Amino acid sequence: MLIVQKYGGSSVATPERIKRVAGRVAEGYKAGNKMVVVVSAMGDTTDDLINLMKEITNNPPEREVDMLLSTGEQVSIALLAMAINDLGCNTVSLTGGQAGVKTNRVYSKAKIIDIDTKRIENELDKGNVVVVAGFQGVNENEITTLGRGGSDTSAVALAVALKADLCEIYTDVDGVYTADPRVVPEARKLKAVSHDEMLELASLGAKVLHPRSVELAKLYNMPIVVRSSFDFNSMGTVVQEVSEMEKDLIISGVTHDDNVARIGLYDVPDKPGIAYSVFRALANKNIDVDMIIQSAVRNNVNDISFTITRDDLRKALAVVEEIQREVGFSRYAHDEDVSKVSIIGSGMVSNPGVAATMFEALAEEGINIEMITTSEIKVSCVVKADQAVKAVKAIHKKFELDAV
Ligand code: ADP
Ligand code: ASP
Ligand code: MG
Repeated sequence: MLIVQKYGGSSVATPERIKRVAGRVAEGYKAGNKMVVVVSAMGDTTDDLINLMKEITNNPPEREVDMLLSTGEQVSIALLAMAINDLGCNTVSLTGGQAGVKTNRVYSKAKIIDIDTKRIENELDKGNVVVVAGFQGVNENEITTLGRGGSDTSAVALAVALKADLCEIYTDVDGVYTADPRVVPEARKLKAVSHDEMLELASLGAKVLHPRSVELAKLYNMPIVVRSSFDFNSMGTVVQEVSEMEKDLIISGVTHDDNVARIGLYDVPDKPGIAYSVFRALANKNIDVDMIIQSAVRNNVNDISFTITRDDLRKALAVVEEIQREVGFSRYAHDEDVSKVSIIGSGMVSNPGVAATMFEALAEEGINIEMITTSEIKVSCVVKADQAVKAVKAIHKKFELDAV
């Protein structure tokens, strides 16, 4: 079998853990499998690098940010390869570029456009365990990174490109839960979850998988197993096309996402082309807009509110400032103290009243809803950031997700 395994930051945070991971990899190798292992930077290394950068400047050139952040993974691949070598396995570590991971040139949010698997296949044929740096790729000769949490995407992309038989994501929890088990201790592990539901869970804040890794897995119908790097006996959660196991569940999970900010534009002229000008300008700067709400018209003007990731706030405010005169709104404001709470479940489509039940849970806790969006399999509400955890707990309880 060809197995792709990915180990996250906390799984390789210390020398002892790296040795444990090496042991797991060696087991697979000695059982006769071809092993490709993707690793993240050790522990909080990426955060530490970002903090270091902030001590130098608030305005770093985008290229240099990726040059800096990609170094974390380079440390962990080398150390893991050494540990694997000590266990008597032939091994080689490769950077994203050496592994053939080609991306576009959107620094810090680069997308994988192609993987040239020649080098990896060559190394596998030589009998090597191949250890690949997650989170990074190259555009021509320039190093790029895939966005926070992007090692999951590196792993799934490699699994797809290599037509792997198994793609395992090892992390610090033993699977995907009905809510973040650190926030809701009563959360229950899901045995299986569909790609669609997992995509929503991940996109709406369940950071256990990078959203784009799930997108890729869905597109190429690649099952993913999420499991614990601390307890190799635990079976984990299978993310796959149809999830027979959880079909009866109306809601499969509750999430919250703190990386949200809201921007409001006031007294926007009510005429064609306005929304286009605003959101095209944001898109041109690679700013993803999430929720959009436009108020009713009064005296030929209305208000437009939208949310973006908090990381993009400064960039977005600069765009808003720039287009204010041309678009003609009277003023704008922003709020960073918000969070998005969501419920996800494919059972929602056929069960009326799901959104109402969510709102009821929030009402009972006295939590005010600032914005709402819905789709066939999710409902999201923006609330004050300091109420998000309370909201998640209340909703989880209301839907009796602990009791299943
Ligand atoms: P890694 O470093 O292995 O990539 P992450 O920190 O990115 O790990 O993701 C794992 C974390 O995701 C867990 O520690 C957990 O707190 C969090 N998490 C959030 N929502 C969920 C969920 N629904 N199920 C499991 N874990 C979740
Ligand atoms: N090291 C990167 C990060 O912390 C990538 C990852 O862990 O997936 O975001
Ligand atoms: Mg992660």
